[in-house]
Amino acid sequence: MKGFAMLEIGKVGWIEKENPVCGPLDAIIKPIALAPCTSDIHTVWEGAVGERTDMILGHECCGEVVEVGSLVKDFKPGDRVLVPAITPDWNSLEAQAGYSMHSGGMLAGWKFSNFKDGVFGELIHVNDADGNLALLPEGIEPEEACMLSDMVPTGFHGAELADIQFGDTVLVIGIGPVGLMSVAGSNLRGASRIFAVGTRPVCIEAAKFYGATDIISYKEGPIVEQVMKLTDGKGVDKVIIAGGTVDTFAEAVECLKPGGKIGNVNYLGNGDYVKIPRVEWGVGMGHKQIQGGLMPGGRLRMEKLARLVECGKLDLSKLITHRFEGFEFVEDALMLMKDKPSDLIKPVVRVEK
Ligand code: NDP
Ligand code: ZN
Repeated sequence: MKGFAMLEIGKVGWIEKENPVCGPLDAIIKPIALAPCTSDIHTVWEGAVGERTDMILGHECCGEVVEVGSLVKDFKPGDRVLVPAITPDWNSLEAQAGYSMHSGGMLAGWKFSNFKDGVFGELIHVNDADGNLALLPEGIEPEEACMLSDMVPTGFHGAELADIQFGDTVLVIGIGPVGLMSVAGSNLRGASRIFAVGTRPVCIEAAKFYGATDIISYKEGPIVEQVMKLTDGKGVDKVIIAGGTVDTFAEAVECLKPGGKIGNVNYLGNGDYVKIPRVEWGVGMGHKQIQGGLMPGGRLRMEKLARLVECGKLDLSKLITHRFEGFEFVEDALMLMKDKPSDLIKPVVRVEK
């Protein structure tokens, strides 16, 4: 089969590979639609997960089942399915402990385009099919379904990690597609004021659509100064980090009220240490909590998030700014994600009708 791959750090291209083999619990899928992710860019051009040779990229897709293993109960060839970016081994001890994303080791629930070939191939191998696939509802178009693989669950996980409660004031740092879904997730969880940090006009417009009440530009002075000005020097209850660098944590801590919580879903592609400012962290006693996490993945989460789209509570169409038709356009879509033109939120490639 053909796939679009990371050849080595800094290099991508089309390659031929053996078809994936379906184990008893697995499924083989052919893609209906695919989307590249900022994480693919970190993986290839920043070497964020280390060297990978001839590994097919991508972890966001929906598809049609072409084969299932002998022990798969709930899916059959011909089913159209949602596929999460994170596909845990649900019988692992880590999953039983509530950390499915770390099944088999730290971050090891993230298999596509990390430990095995990703979804930018003619055929895709999905482990633990009953635990990880979900039927694609009739009312959700395949392009939008791709947003359910990673953007929605990751952005929403930021809102879970920051523990957003009714009436909370929330700062969302970064309003690319992930941060936009953190804005939407905070809004659904009952946040009051939502301060959104970003500069691309298309993202600012979408942030307002998803519930942001105030926009902050990190290019116009320190974020903390702008947040303090807007909150009469009090700061915010919660911060979600969905963009920036290792230094963004210091800004997040500075913006937070005592007892506040930070949820990070940003992928730290470089830098050795995350620094926490001593005084603003209450000289070690400010009860400011910091959590960073990979999204959980799996079938139940896919089904629940899809229901939000089906019943009209979450409109994903605003995330998709560029649409391509034909598998060969995966390369163009990935390059768009690398270059991030000012009118881009998310590109999607339709492979099959
Ligand atoms: P984008 O690059 O589209 O968005 C990044 C956002 O951060 C933009 O709004 C950008 O502003 C803003 N930003 C850039 N620099 C700074 C800065 N110095 N201070 C504050 N804000 C800044 O990324 P995505 O939304 O696609 O992804 C966000 C992150 O989430 C990535 O690191 C990605 O790898 C990660 N990720 C994590 C996953 C997980 O499971 N934890 C899964 C998927 C993605 P501007 O408007 O100027 O561009
Ligand atoms: Zn992703």
